[in-house]
Amino acid sequence: MLIEEARKGYANDLVKKAAEFENISLEKFLRLISHGYVVMPKNVLRDTAPKAIGMMCSTKVNVNVGTSIDHVNLDEEVEKVRVAEKFGADAVMDLSTGGDLDAIRRRLIKETRLPFGTVPIYQAARGCRIVDMSEDDFFEVVEKQCRDGVDFMTIHAGVNWESVEKLKRAKRLVGIVSRGGAITLAWMLHNEKENPYYKEFDYLLEILKQYDVTISLGDAYRPGSIFDADRVKLMEYVVLGELVERCRERGVQCIVEGPGHVSIDLIEPSVKAMKIATNNAPLYLLGPLVTDVALGYDHIAAAIGAAIAAKAGADFICYVTPSEHLGLPTVEDVKEGVIAAKIAAHAADLIKNEKAKEWDYEMSIARKKLDWEKQFKLSLDPEKAREIWSRRRSNYACSMCGDLCAIKIAEKFFEISL
Ligand code: SF4
Repeated sequence: MLIEEARKGYANDLVKKAAEFENISLEKFLRLISHGYVVMPKNVLRDTAPKAIGMMCSTKVNVNVGTSIDHVNLDEEVEKVRVAEKFGADAVMDLSTGGDLDAIRRRLIKETRLPFGTVPIYQAARGCRIVDMSEDDFFEVVEKQCRDGVDFMTIHAGVNWESVEKLKRAKRLVGIVSRGGAITLAWMLHNEKENPYYKEFDYLLEILKQYDVTISLGDAYRPGSIFDADRVKLMEYVVLGELVERCRERGVQCIVEGPGHVSIDLIEPSVKAMKIATNNAPLYLLGPLVTDVALGYDHIAAAIGAAIAAKAGADFICYVTPSEHLGLPTVEDVKEGVIAAKIAAHAADLIKNEKAKEWDYEMSIARKKLDWEKQFKLSLDPEKAREIWSRRRSNYACSMCGDLCAIKIAEKFFEISL
């Protein structure tokens, strides 16, 4: 198991590669893993690419794919995985809820070496009415997905009776927007029982540990409106922080998930609070979206929030597509979403990590030299950059300023050249 090996000072090849990529000395990198400040999701049954998430590491980007009950097209989901990887995703999650979920997951997981995640309760709830699931159903699906090689799983273990009471008193505007959280709450309220993942957390960890699967502690109470970034959310982090300690004690890697919709002024304090409450567990955020009115452009609202959050300490950001809140994303939406998230992650890394600056430095030099081929090569979407440049070709530099190209003028009259 990775944490236990790190605690003994042992580094396998993947750990060595990740340390080198992150530009962190191996000794320090092992210490970060030992404490749980850095995770590398990898199921023992799978040949997963080394991706380190957490303290001192570059900001990673996750891409969600998957069918819905209304739209099942496996080829399209496979294409989304390919596009996600092509444009720089660091991890992929299958959130399928429609079709043959086992077949879909097993097909998608073969498509990539990126860390592969799921939300098992989607499948547990599929075969029956949500409230009819047995307590065993919660765990059997986790084990099945572990056997399939899933590297990390979102599990809403932080929802408990105490939090339900607090949620009722909070009188939120939108309430619950986490699908896994809503399913868990519905089951609890209908059956008047504690959340099995909370009640039997040690048993859950036993299953995950057998396969060295990383648990991503879901935030059921993530705000779905900027008006709901409230104390219920903060209270959940305290519970998640306690679960983080239990994961670390038992040698299970864990990540903590976060919001949601948060106004710009609250992002940094929220990230800091989450880090304190969870003793610096790697923090995985959806967005956060900085406004509720960007329908059709929520990937931009999320990228703004993600850049601020990543600068403040978020480690792993989940992309958002233009389809968010509207429908299942298309392949093109996936591309737009992953590029927006990559820009956010890289913008933060420019401040967090000296190595990230090399890329921008090279681009600045290529821009100064009007070296278009180099600029295309260094861009996040070379095809799009070339297409825009080509549609109005200029004999001079580019059709933006034509013969008034500032770079050319500077070179000619001020002898500023490289
Ligand atoms: S023409 Fe204008 S936009 Fe184009 S490279 Fe020169 S300065 Fe930049």
